[in-house]
Amino acid sequence: MSPLRLGLVGVGKIARDQHVPSIEATSGITLTAAASRSATIEGAANFASLIDMLEGARIDAVALCTPPQVRHALALQALRAGKHVLLEKPPGATLSEMDDLVAAARDAGVTLFATWHSRFAPAVEPARDYLKDKRVLRAVITWKEDVRRWHPGQDWIWEPGGLGVFDPGINALSIATRILPKPFFLTGGTLETPENRQAPIAARLSFTDADGLDLFADFDWRQEGPQTWDIEVELSGGHGLKLSGGGKTLHIDGEKRIDAPDAEYRGIYRHFVDLVASGRSDVDVSPLRHVADAFMLGRRETVAAFHDETAAH
Ligand code: NAP
Repeated sequence: MSPLRLGLVGVGKIARDQHVPSIEATSGITLTAAASRSATIEGAANFASLIDMLEGARIDAVALCTPPQVRHALALQALRAGKHVLLEKPPGATLSEMDDLVAAARDAGVTLFATWHSRFAPAVEPARDYLKDKRVLRAVITWKEDVRRWHPGQDWIWEPGGLGVFDPGINALSIATRILPKPFFLTGGTLETPENRQAPIAARLSFTDADGLDLFADFDWRQEGPQTWDIEVELSGGHGLKLSGGGKTLHIDGEKRIDAPDAEYRGIYRHFVDLVASGRSDVDVSPLRHVADAFMLGRRETVAAFHDETAAH
């Protein structure tokens, strides 16, 4: 079969750091075109917009690497043009717009893939396998990073729909929803929002499940120095596991079982190629639903203003 011809939209940090090299490293897919308001990708046919790309390039699929607030309109254009669509995380700005895209993909008979890159971290599936028939008593998610280091100049992330600290926090939730054996739900939380911003800089959330799970998530964007992306899970009898480094490392009962380098985006593109080849879609909105619940149920606290010295004002 000839490789899937892909057009990429939004040439920002994640497109350059991960998508372009991962597409190159994946067989069955090739980067044919790019649509950007401001940049070009060497070796691809470059266009100023998705509409121009759909008219001017021969492509089978579109990868959307823009911020979530503009993703639905772009995805709908691509689906209606009969293209398979890959969505960066979070897949959209609302849950309802996701239903709309799922229906549009079905109507067009094409693949829709809502990616969660952290689910492709090397220790996530082994953790899921280990936990699948176990009763989890307690779990703690600690996701603390420095927003100045990872999101310099990204104004959209502080706007409505940009999710603030849930932009990384949703990665932790995408892992938790994959590895924990039962569905869980929010019982309460606190969202700390800078007085000059629309989205939180920190959040503390409590969840439970039908068996009384005690799950606590601590998201913070003010962590300087070492960064923390850990999930600790406690089982009965003193057993437990720890995922660290965002899912790169797995310890079970204190013993290291997995410590592997990052290849998340190659996993994403392999899965996309498989989905298209088998005529399937993969859309799981459960991480986004937990974030929506946090905005619905969380208690608001206003904290000190956040100023990004690198922002273009
Ligand atoms: P970014 O550096 O700000 O890039 C986003 C790109 O989207 C921009 O460069 C721009 O590209 C395009 N765009 C189109 N409409 C836009 C608008 N209204 N406002 C701003 N940009 C617009 O962001 P990013 O870090 O690549 O993140 C993009 C998506 O990937 C987000 O959903 C994010 O959660 C996800 N993601 C990011 C990371 C990371 O480490 N940064 C990791 C995993 C996932 P053009 O100028 O080419 O049009």
